[in-house]
Amino acid sequence: MAKDVLCEVHNCTFWANGNKCSADSIYVVSHTGKKADSSKETDCKTFEPSDL
Ligand code: SF4
Repeated sequence: MAKDVLCEVHNCTFWANGNKCSADSIYVVSHTGKKADSSKETDCKTFEPSDL
């Protein structure tokens, strides 16, 4: 399991100072089904836009 999640998406509700993710857990998805060939094909589905 990931101990710390670092993230640079400042306008996510779960983003915190120091590029920390404050969500209890995150869900990462692939754009290309159940596999991915590079990190560009993955995304955090837990993202929720904030008012920033
Ligand atoms: S939920 Fe996803 S997008 Fe939002 S801060 Fe955490 S890792 Fe980043």
